[in-house]
Amino acid sequence: MSELVIRNLHATINDQEIIRGLDLKIRKGEVHALMGPNGTGKSTLAYVLMGHPNYKVTDGEVVFKGQNVLDLEPDERANLGIFLAFQYPVAIPGVTVANFLRTAINAKRKASNDEDKGIPIPEFRRMLKEKMDNLKMDHSFAGRYLNEGFSGGEKKRAEILQLAALEPEIAILDETDSGLDIDALRIVSDGINSLQSTDLGVLVITHYQRILNYIKPDFVHIMMDGKIVESGGPDLALHLEEHGYDWLRQKSETMA
Ligand code: ADP
Ligand code: MG
Repeated sequence: MSELVIRNLHATINDQEIIRGLDLKIRKGEVHALMGPNGTGKSTLAYVLMGHPNYKVTDGEVVFKGQNVLDLEPDERANLGIFLAFQYPVAIPGVTVANFLRTAINAKRKASNDEDKGIPIPEFRRMLKEKMDNLKMDHSFAGRYLNEGFSGGEKKRAEILQLAALEPEIAILDETDSGLDIDALRIVSDGINSLQSTDLGVLVITHYQRILNYIKPDFVHIMMDGKIVESGGPDLALHLEEHGYDWLRQKSETMA
């Protein structure tokens, strides 16, 4: 069974330890929410999982399908079935959403079979239409240049379409702590909910409880000072909304 297992992860940036012994296990089909106050290391975790060169792993391991993910290049992680959404997607002028997706799909196919000649265009078109219909997206979107002049909501749509088209097994989505309006939240959550039938495992990283009004997580984890200090079911997010993070600070200190 494929599951993403993070064990005793420690990571630094500029020699400062940010992730301090984090454990987390995500199985296919499970939706996990990672919450926590600002500056606690949530985005750092996403960057480390992504293989960002500025972050150094000093201890622990991340295993998926029997492979040590930390030894892999970012594209190899993607080919293994891990999808990492970029928090600040870059614009690629001259490359349409459709071309970008076809290139990404072909790279993934090539990685699993060197003989692969790429997805035939009619099949790609059919697949893309179907995915766009499922996400209630206008077909004209596929012909636009990726992220160029996209609104926040359109960037999120592009991200979710990428997720749907690449069919990863695990998706890690770091939602910005600001700037995600209700429409964008809906796009992300509808997208994720519609992919649940595909057995996708999801880690949604968020500062706000409100996204969880739309995405129903199976597990909620609270991160403080670089590690998970509390895990529970959806109720934990509600408790957090009511009581804030203060009741956990003491716990976090005694764990340190
Ligand atoms: P979160 O996403 O939970 O708000 P981050 O992972 O963005 O937290 O940041 C965790 C900590 O790492 C913060 O204290 C932040 O100041 C620090 N940090 C982030 N990037 C850098 C950097 N480039 N250099 C030094 N410290 C950084
Ligand atoms: Mg963050």
